[in-house]
Amino acid sequence: MNVPPQYGTYRFQGAKSYPLGASLTSYDQVQVLPATNQHLSLPQISALSGEVNSLLEAGFWEYSLETNDFFCSEYIYDLLHIPSSFTLKDFTSLVPFVAEEGRGFLVDGWQGLLNNGLELNCLVEVPGEAESTWIRIRGKSVTRNSKVSRMVGTIQNVTEFVVKERALVSEKIAAEHTAQIKSEFVSYLSHEIRTPLNAIMGLTYLLLQEEGMKEEYRENLNSIHFSSQSLLALINNTLDYSKMEAGKVELEKVNFHLKDLLKNTHQALCLRSMEKKINFDLSIDPRTPAEVAGDPVRLMQILNNLLSNAIKFTEHGSVKLGVEVIYQTNQEWVLEFSVSDTGIGIPADKQMSIFESFTQVSSSTHREYGGTGLGLSITKNLVELHKGSIQVKSVEGEGSVFSVRLRFVKPQASLVTLAKTSGSKLPYTKLRGVKILVVDDNLMNKTVATKLLTNWHAEVATAEDGMAALTKIYSDEYDLVLMDLYMPNLDGFQTVSTLRKAGCQIPVIALTANANEKERKRIVEAGVNDYLTKPFVPQDLFNKVLQHIDSNKILC
Ligand code: ADP
Repeated sequence: MNVPPQYGTYRFQGAKSYPLGASLTSYDQVQVLPATNQHLSLPQISALSGEVNSLLEAGFWEYSLETNDFFCSEYIYDLLHIPSSFTLKDFTSLVPFVAEEGRGFLVDGWQGLLNNGLELNCLVEVPGEAESTWIRIRGKSVTRNSKVSRMVGTIQNVTEFVVKERALVSEKIAAEHTAQIKSEFVSYLSHEIRTPLNAIMGLTYLLLQEEGMKEEYRENLNSIHFSSQSLLALINNTLDYSKMEAGKVELEKVNFHLKDLLKNTHQALCLRSMEKKINFDLSIDPRTPAEVAGDPVRLMQILNNLLSNAIKFTEHGSVKLGVEVIYQTNQEWVLEFSVSDTGIGIPADKQMSIFESFTQVSSSTHREYGGTGLGLSITKNLVELHKGSIQVKSVEGEGSVFSVRLRFVKPQASLVTLAKTSGSKLPYTKLRGVKILVVDDNLMNKTVATKLLTNWHAEVATAEDGMAALTKIYSDEYDLVLMDLYMPNLDGFQTVSTLRKAGCQIPVIALTANANEKERKRIVEAGVNDYLTKPFVPQDLFNKVLQHIDSNKILC
């Protein structure tokens, strides 16, 4: 015959305390058997379970629905600091011994078990003189002859676990908080650096347009231009790195023109490859979809990082951007973007580590080529956010091929569709006579935009905030407004909303240092027609202005 599990010493309803190993005839099935090879005697079991209780730091309880008897091991009395004169009559008499905040959970848990057979599992605090104890109370129903006859359960001291878990949680919160502050600081700093950088880049561009300049000056200006571009790349990388560290980078999804993006990326980097006298080819699989839904900004960043490296580390031969369809259905495509070069190559033992942050092949790489060792780590992160893959094949001294596989889906009606970029470059005199209002509280930015637009023969007026802009727009006629979004008094969003509510449909191009999805949504909601990210390339400003002014205004 099986011996039912027994309990160390315990107290029985009715204020009787039984010593270890007492013979308990009131409990159904309990029989005292002599010890054999298979079975322990009841006193042995009782003694053993008392030891187990203290090792597990747990005791058990039982409630019989048939007799209404409630049993509880002595360990539970100790755990809950129940006075020796007190005997628990039923489960709910445990309630006053736990901290007030946990009592409701305990009562609800008990009701759920009793009425609906739901397993009881509560974590509650037990107040103590010096420190409180955390206990986990569990319970379940036991069926006999297809009828629920008893509830059994355990009460365990889990203080150590709870204290450790709480310490971990608060460490995690503190670490997240620090990362958040760091990321906000980097974001603020990079935002602040962008504004003067916009002025440096814009003014350098304007100076470079001047004719008859001494060759030596032109070279110096080119160096400023090159350095400011490197500084911008560095700021962008630092910002991305800190955002990724704080887990704040999210992909967005818009409909965009993939083939355009590839051609523009190729075109934008052609100049650099021409300067180095290396070929730069673009090869697109004819099955590549013209339009897809995905994150064009991040795709461009991945390609730019890989292509910039390919051009940087290649002195002779060529660089190639290839796109191939690996898999396609009616709804989606898996595309492989490959960036190959005939450059210095990467030693086999370094081909994994280059994807780690701040890692370059050797210290001489930095001396010879500059860089931070962040580009590939950011690229890998972005690819992983896409649930894609990246790999490199390289032979030292012969060249490298970086391959990235990403999945894109069909354009969707529910998503924002980005306007197709116009590749046409019209002569700058086309803006002659076009009246543009530049709204910016930053004097430098206002000056740069004004100079660029005036250089293209537009007529430019300025306003230092939204209020001043509204006064000017209502009293004079303009063909277009170029507006900073963050200004005192009335910001760009409020100004454009006010204009639209008043029925004024003048085209507005916004200038922003931060074109993330949230900001873009706000831009669209406010009624802004288009935006440029600071620092902007003058050609982009020109193209956007042309795109948004009345075609009758454009000089033929
Ligand atoms: P950075 O280019 O700023 O140093 P990256 O993370 O983009 O940082 O690249 C890390 C390192 O990987 C580079 O410093 C270089 O040593 C190596 N590397 C990356 N791309 C290439 C390439 N196409 N050819 C040779 N070496 C490369």
